[in-house]
Amino acid sequence: MIMTECIEAKTTTIVNGYHKVRFGKNKYRAHRWVWELVNGKIAEGLVIDHICRNRACVAIDHLRMVTQQENIMAGLHNIDNRSNCNQGHPFIKENIMVRKNGRRECAECNRERSRCNWAAKKGAA
Ligand SMILES: [Zn+2]
Ligand SMILES: [Zn+2]
Repeated sequence: MIMTECIEAKTTTIVNGYHKVRFGKNKYRAHRWVWELVNGKIAEGLVIDHICRNRACVAIDHLRMVTQQENIMAGLHNIDNRSNCNQGHPFIKENIMVRKNGRRECAECNRERSRCNWAAKKGAA
């Protein structure tokens, strides 16, 4: 697939890499707004995924509507392109943590890290 260049939204409000547009009382993510403008309302439970992984992008042909789960899996595939984390834990949906900023992490590693942090703090006290 030949992809056109990204069109980045030019807004001043950027939250977690997403541009926000404001209409009256409501704030929208710019790419969702563009999608609804072209394709109509986004059904509940569906998210607009950036095929180009550029969250600031509002090029309509770089966007697609997917379920939340598909979006997580697509992100994993794009970011990691692996079936295991660095520690060899499987990247299955039960073991994927999605942070507020959209980053996907290995849940098992996260648990181990927090255990370590806790132990380190305890040791230092
Ligand atoms: Zn793009
Ligand atoms: Zn891991």
